[in-house]
Amino acid sequence: MSDSSDHKFEQMGFETRSVHAGVDIDSTFNSCTTPIYPSSTFYWEDLKTNKGFDYTRSGNPTRRAMEDNIASLEGGLSCRATSTGMSAVTTIMHMFQPGDHIITGHDIYGGTYRLFDDIFTKIGLKFSFVDMSDPANVQAAVTDATKAIWIETPSNPLMRLVDIAAVVKIANSHDLLTIADNTFLSPYLQRPLELGVDIVMHSTTKYLNGHSDVVGGCIVTNSEEHAEKVDYLVNALGLGNSPFDAWLVLRGVKTLGPRMEAHQKGAMAVARFLESHPQVDHVYYPGLESHPQHELAKQQQSGFGAMLSFEVKGEKSDTERVCTQTNLFLLAESLGGVESLICAPDCMTHLSMEESARRAAGITTQTIRLSIGIENPDDLIADLKQALEA
Ligand SMILES: *Cc1c(COP(=O)(O)O)cnc(C)c1O
Repeated sequence: MSDSSDHKFEQMGFETRSVHAGVDIDSTFNSCTTPIYPSSTFYWEDLKTNKGFDYTRSGNPTRRAMEDNIASLEGGLSCRATSTGMSAVTTIMHMFQPGDHIITGHDIYGGTYRLFDDIFTKIGLKFSFVDMSDPANVQAAVTDATKAIWIETPSNPLMRLVDIAAVVKIANSHDLLTIADNTFLSPYLQRPLELGVDIVMHSTTKYLNGHSDVVGGCIVTNSEEHAEKVDYLVNALGLGNSPFDAWLVLRGVKTLGPRMEAHQKGAMAVARFLESHPQVDHVYYPGLESHPQHELAKQQQSGFGAMLSFEVKGEKSDTERVCTQTNLFLLAESLGGVESLICAPDCMTHLSMEESARRAAGITTQTIRLSIGIENPDDLIADLKQALEA
């Protein structure tokens, strides 16, 4: 069921595949970009023959173009696009049975934590939330019921890394499935399948679309067996991405490489500025030499990304002051768009976690998270400087 049909691009560079993979498949008018096919249904020529699509819940030509593009970028066999990142997580969780145990991080995305800790725990799945920055904690959590390890690296918002190869090794020795949420870095900066992970998922809402105008998700698989399972589940659960949204993601992904370069150039400049500022206690950014896993970041990533957090000195009112005094940085949740965002995880993105879970994950009232856009880094630094000193 391999549907990454763009073999002619397979040997080409990442940026070339971003622009071309999956895209030029329209022969009706020779359009250079992929048409949007909003059609819910596709007519048959006889009782055996259609053109590969019959109903948009099961498959759609616009969505398939985007899926083939992302499969190529992640180095996977197949991709299925879902309505949101959370529906990608939901789909993957339906690969398990009540009683199955899954090991994951204690500082994973708040929505994923809620889905695991509340919804899927209620229907009988079991989870261990451990500090995955030390692989020994993963090893120690394995039981006879363990079926999978859910990896998210770097973590949100404190940018802890998981050593992907080390966790894959543990998984292989116990015959466990590995799944990686690769949203924070995108396939331009990290490709977990190449490190032995079985399944990669994304919130395409973030860097893959990159323009803060879509919610979507995707699941990339690397074996026929997993590809068929995911294809079946997305159709059966009815969680496919809409053709319009898939078209926007496909358009966004064409500039993924140049955008990530601009994003991380700004992030490094902002991180160095914050590290030297007297109002700032600590900066969490894997690109800084002071990050405890800087060497691991250099090893398993091809860049440091554009998400960073810091602790502002003082009290909660200082956090609020900095978050509300910026002009360029918009006070908003989400990440990965061309515009820079600022937020306070303790009362925004991570509110779906209990306070005790937030503290256990290291989130304080002083934690501020930044998603660095592609604006001029000097302007971003000037904006943060005036907010910190207001
Ligand atoms: C945003 C996000 C999700 C959820 O994606 P939605 O598109 O908001 O449903 C999952 N994981 C990570 C790391 C995210 O940043």
